[in-house]
Amino acid sequence: MARILIIEDNQANMKLATLLLGNGGHAVLCAVDAETGLTLARADQPDLILMDIQLPGMDGLAATALLKQDPATAAIPVIALTAMAMKADQEKSEVAGCDAYIAKPLRYQELYSTIDALLAKAAQPPSAAPTGDKP
Ligand code: MN
Repeated sequence: MARILIIEDNQANMKLATLLLGNGGHAVLCAVDAETGLTLARADQPDLILMDIQLPGMDGLAATALLKQDPATAAIPVIALTAMAMKADQEKSEVAGCDAYIAKPLRYQELYSTIDALLAKAAQPPSAAPTGDKP
């Protein structure tokens, strides 16, 4: 079980995500805008964040960039949620620092497998993580 923060302004999507995560055995925190989500992320340190890209005011990409710049929240995996499977959105979410990307409507198999993979990765000690361009 993980504590998962959902940042999503659409009520129907929030309801579905909450239901799916609850059925998956996870505890859910909810925010309907980026500002509230950032505050909750810092205060409650969730294990993972589901971030809608299209939010009123600050969008999900800007919010993710802020989360990844803040040492208090940088290590929390972020899954970007977007309304359509668009390559441009996927690329932008990677640039913003999102760890994964899921197109809505949410499908539970994809949601669960993405969450499990990111939680497993986050649980690894730093030495077990890929070292990128280090020798
Ligand atoms: Mn939205």
